[in-house]
Amino acid sequence: MKAWIFVVVNQKGGVGKTTTAVNTAAALARAGKRVLLIDLDPQGNATMGCGIDKRNLSRSVYQMLLGLEPPHAVRLSTEFGFDLLPANRDLAAAELELVDLSDREQRLKHAIASMADCHDEVILIDSPPSLSMLTLNGLCAANGVIIPMQCEYYALEGLSDLVNTIRKVQTNFNPDLNMLGLLRVMFDARITLAQQVSDQLAEHFAEKVFETVIPRNVRLAEAPSHGMPGLVFDPSSRGAKAYASFGAEFLARLAKG
Ligand code: ATP
Ligand code: MG
Repeated sequence: MKAWIFVVVNQKGGVGKTTTAVNTAAALARAGKRVLLIDLDPQGNATMGCGIDKRNLSRSVYQMLLGLEPPHAVRLSTEFGFDLLPANRDLAAAELELVDLSDREQRLKHAIASMADCHDEVILIDSPPSLSMLTLNGLCAANGVIIPMQCEYYALEGLSDLVNTIRKVQTNFNPDLNMLGLLRVMFDARITLAQQVSDQLAEHFAEKVFETVIPRNVRLAEAPSHGMPGLVFDPSSRGAKAYASFGAEFLARLAKG
């Protein structure tokens, strides 16, 4: 079976990429899917958020991208029903070291292809806050892009850069890449501007905007310090329920093709 591969991208920092990647992985795993989460960020936040200590990794995505270790040697299982390819600050060096290698944009794609015997159904890639060689590897490996965004004024400006980058990757490297959708996160309905930006998004991107809206919710922010997805840390919180709904909407969108 061929896996669906999604990369969570937004070149802005702190917009909820990792929270979305980790909680979506947990939601899909809970829905019975075989899920692999790939941490493609030297910050290692997705790794820590899954309860894996990034400081004690003997192997990580860094070695995998440079061809020093096969993916199965890097792969770990988490306590939350999905697997992880972990990362830490070692990965920052890959940015430079990849430049001299052949197929430097396609390294992650090839690594994923070599895991075909793992039978993953959904692969989610968490990316760093930049449009770097690492992010490019994520975009080249994926079939779909998920863009989490906060409904702020400057978010729309950043979005057009991102959409242009996605188009360039489609043209030059990966014609199979689709924008799966935009996810409104950290949403505060009491803020008029948030509502306005949200309406503008819906107008411009129509059905590409997921119906589910992730509210600002402190339990989601607390969960990583316990090494857990918010969905597991406090399943009854508004944030956890929103990510559970998002998981269902995501699967429905996949089923539609
Ligand atoms: P980076 O660009 O640094 O990788 P990111 O885009 O991955 O950041 P996150 O790490 O997911 O963003 O989120 C940034 C901060 O906001 C974190 O402290 C996180 O716990 C918090 N956060 C994320 N989503 C929510 C939410 N819906 N409600 C409240 N806090 C949130
Ligand atoms: Mg992150």
